[in-house]
Amino acid sequence: MSAREVHRIVHSQRLREGGGFAVRRPFPAPGLELVDPFLLLDEMGPSDYKPGEAVGAPDHPHRGFETVTYMLDGEFEHEDSAGNRGSIRPGDVQWMTAGDGVIHSEMPAAWVRERGGRVHGFQLWVNLPARDKRVGPRYQDVRAETMPTWASDDGRATIKVIAGAAMGVQGAAQTRIPITYLDLTLARDASIELEVPSAQTAFVYVFNGALAVGDAGRPVNDGDMALLTGGDRLQLRSSTDRACALVLAGEPLREPVARYGPFVMNTADEIQQAFRDYQSGRFGQIAR
Ligand code: MN
Repeated sequence: MSAREVHRIVHSQRLREGGGFAVRRPFPAPGLELVDPFLLLDEMGPSDYKPGEAVGAPDHPHRGFETVTYMLDGEFEHEDSAGNRGSIRPGDVQWMTAGDGVIHSEMPAAWVRERGGRVHGFQLWVNLPARDKRVGPRYQDVRAETMPTWASDDGRATIKVIAGAAMGVQGAAQTRIPITYLDLTLARDASIELEVPSAQTAFVYVFNGALAVGDAGRPVNDGDMALLTGGDRLQLRSSTDRACALVLAGEPLREPVARYGPFVMNTADEIQQAFRDYQSGRFGQIAR
């Protein structure tokens, strides 16, 4: 067993996305266009909205990848051109395989728009291999109450296993390529050691407190992403009263990436085809 250590620390950028909601984005960024097979990670908020202020991402298309929405606070409503609609509440995950294409809207729930409140969550973009870019759209809704979870005997370390496996607990979502997606919470000085498949690219994103990462205990602070070296085990320890982090790992596709806005394909021709298909109405529309 060899230890994964911190290879590089990336500070997230504060940006506005969609209809103007605030995000922290570790990547893509200049010099870090993707973390193969991952295309983007956004931490949405936390934003405390006043009544009438909450914003989201109105109707827009996607093709060629997956969007994974994970809510911590607040509620999002989702509607799409395939006739799906639903809400994503705290602790829920929506794993959307856009595949060949959908038009969807991701908006704060009506009660959040009317009354205001806190919105906090994540959106991850997972690339699809060339063979899967045009598969039919698929949704997996994982509800908070059915999320596979591990806790240490003393309760000071907990892990939600969104995809992949941790501590013998199998993740909730089915993925097209091997992916590990964990949300972990550690009390002060609590530590865990995770097995991370050596074939997977891996990183840690800290969104509360701070962690000491790797056998070397490299400090990684709130809002920072630590890209990891190869290896098959990962040591993490909290250095604050409460540390929260995502651990993400995935088998790299090693394929050419052509991306433009909401489309991620392998070639520029395929991007142009996506625009033509979108403009000619082949993605359909959201029935309202
Ligand atoms: Mn979207």
